[in-house]
Amino acid sequence: MADSQQSDSRKLLVSLRETLAAASAGQERLDRITTLIAESMGAEVCSIYLFRDEQTLELCATEGLKAEAVHETRLRVGEGLVGRVAKRAKPINTHDAPSERGFRYMPETGEEIYTSFLGVPIQRLGETLGVLVVQSKDARDYTSDEVYGLEVVAMVIAEMTELGAFVGEGAALAALHQRPVTFKGGVGQEGAAEGQVWLHEPRVVVTNPVADDPQEETLRLQEAVETLRVSVDELLATAQSADKDQMQVLEAYRMFANSKGWMRRMEEDISRGLSAEAAVEKEQSAARTRMAQVPDAYLRERLHDLDDLSNRLLRILTGQGGETGAEMPDHPILVATNIGPGELLEYGRSLRGIVLEEGSIASHAAIVARALAIPLIVHAGRVATEALNGDHILVDGEHGIVHLRPEETIIGAFRDKMAMEAAQQERYVSLRDKPAMGLCGTEVSLHMNAGLMADLPSLEGSGAAGVGLFRTELQFLTVSRVPRRGELAALYSRVLDAAKGKRVVFRTLDIGSDKVLPYMNPLDEPNPALGWRAIRVGLDKPGVMRMQLQALIRAAAGRKLSVMFPFIAQLQEFTDAREILLAEVERERRLGHVLPEDLEIGAMLETPSMVFAPQQFFEMADFISIGGNDLKQFFYAADRENERVRRRYDTLNVSFLNLIEEIVTRCAAARTPLSFCGEDAGRPIEAVCFAALGMRHLSMRPASVGPVKHLIRRTDVDALKEVIDEARLSGAQSVRPAVLEWMTRKGKSST
Ligand code: PEP
Ligand code: MG
Repeated sequence: MADSQQSDSRKLLVSLRETLAAASAGQERLDRITTLIAESMGAEVCSIYLFRDEQTLELCATEGLKAEAVHETRLRVGEGLVGRVAKRAKPINTHDAPSERGFRYMPETGEEIYTSFLGVPIQRLGETLGVLVVQSKDARDYTSDEVYGLEVVAMVIAEMTELGAFVGEGAALAALHQRPVTFKGGVGQEGAAEGQVWLHEPRVVVTNPVADDPQEETLRLQEAVETLRVSVDELLATAQSADKDQMQVLEAYRMFANSKGWMRRMEEDISRGLSAEAAVEKEQSAARTRMAQVPDAYLRERLHDLDDLSNRLLRILTGQGGETGAEMPDHPILVATNIGPGELLEYGRSLRGIVLEEGSIASHAAIVARALAIPLIVHAGRVATEALNGDHILVDGEHGIVHLRPEETIIGAFRDKMAMEAAQQERYVSLRDKPAMGLCGTEVSLHMNAGLMADLPSLEGSGAAGVGLFRTELQFLTVSRVPRRGELAALYSRVLDAAKGKRVVFRTLDIGSDKVLPYMNPLDEPNPALGWRAIRVGLDKPGVMRMQLQALIRAAAGRKLSVMFPFIAQLQEFTDAREILLAEVERERRLGHVLPEDLEIGAMLETPSMVFAPQQFFEMADFISIGGNDLKQFFYAADRENERVRRRYDTLNVSFLNLIEEIVTRCAAARTPLSFCGEDAGRPIEAVCFAALGMRHLSMRPASVGPVKHLIRRTDVDALKEVIDEARLSGAQSVRPAVLEWMTRKGKSST
């Protein structure tokens, strides 16, 4: 590239910056810009077209075309050369515009005398805002340097924050972060929420697109890239090699961070007069445009990685981290690419909802979101790129849909639905102190699941009889080391205090599979759900489990203690775990600690093997709780985390109900209390069917207690059992259709 051209474009950018900084009115400024560009490029015409709405471009300023055409001439996307530049987001450079494909002559502009045409898209972060055009009478092809120079200029124009003002009274600037967008993702936690976007990592704002000293800017860029490389290497060094996806992303980061092409392009942008930040953003913008056009999913992912890396680089250059000084909105809905469980816990219940571009249903963040009962959508497209702080957003955690900047009709329908649900909740509140008793007199005791101290107030609010499952993983997952016994004892004690004498069933640590501790050596297990997890870890390496049991015993101190062991797959595992607990009680006695007033030792039934376990298992256990989430996945051989299969098999499938009934029968024979604490217990239809099969204890999320109680109270549970039996005899695959049909009929006849 010729040095003179570089300094020309630099000079142009500097005068452009001065023009942008001058306190003139918007239109005047835009006019001045077109004059400057025309002069600098030796062209007779320079025009700026901006989107008026999603499909229409409007001539907003010109040097050289007829002034009366400004704000009058409009083109559709794809129409004429200008429309084609916008559509393809690529420059068009021709010395003979009239013979170019798609040429359309706009008589009111007087452009017929101009033969050569160069148009480049005006883009910010991959979104086309308009088109910048130069035209000349002489038939010339612009050099690639000139094309490139005009692109750099277009980039600076794109940074003008007030571009929207030029497209006429009341018109929306369609392209940039203003139009409604809908994303479809996976449901990490159900529930509906309306609020304003709160970006976990807000977009970096580039305030200085033009720089005076290219040497200094190049140096800043090089230093920032070096810092970036070091940080990526550090990430790689500490990454868990078992996490193949994470390693793949980090390797891609490293590749881009060391890419000579990327660096060269940015240095070239700087030599044209852009600041280091603007150069990064220009290349990021180009990558985003490619991203939108690349059909190959793998390549798109890699471009996405480059996008992330550019954001990191921008943060290094601008020093803008998560803290931008913005104030959290009243009803914040967190939007992020991804988030760690610790960070999410810090936000706590202040959030109304969470929407992640990545994440997974099994991620720790999802576990925390579930514990906090905050609606969560994962894999929600490019939401973190599209959303801006404060944008209106609706989270439909039933269908996994996110409406960003929704239209009035969507808002109306969404609010109606939320209002109906709220009214329903009101009705449930009135049931709080009433028993979950069916019309036939069958009474079911409803408990809640918990995992945080913050869950305990729900015990009173929901009217649950106790905590049927206290998951103890979160205190281990969200810290960087094994928690100390004293810390755990203090927490468990506070949980018992808050329960005010109601029963709390503590489940010992259920790690492994989806719940990998950050400080645990990662195992490269081909099938972690079937791997070294839960009680298997507890028995093989009993140190942590013993410590946890000691903490529980100390926390109980004179109160009743209920402990349950997860994932028991054969009798011996239960007897061994039980022995360890009893030995710990004995040890605590010797040490002079106050022992629990009463001790219940239970087992979770989560593998089909235990349905057929020796009778001694059912007799030895003080209680049994069905972990339906796991039991179902192993019964059907269908991964509970896999969106493709997790809903494939109905809980009310006859096979599964027969299995449940067998457990009920075996527990009844041993007079062992039985409960169900998987997600299905919180689904009203499932819950009432379990009750019909003889289940008398159910444990669920606090929010489900009301709906489940409501349905049980309206159902003749004995009659439902007959409906289920008939459906089973009929050869139906699932009893659901028969149950629903019966309920609808009953519902009609009782109204
Ligand atoms: C279950 O498997 O049903 C259960 C309650 O345990 P978790 O969901 O924690 O695996
Ligand atoms: Mg389980």
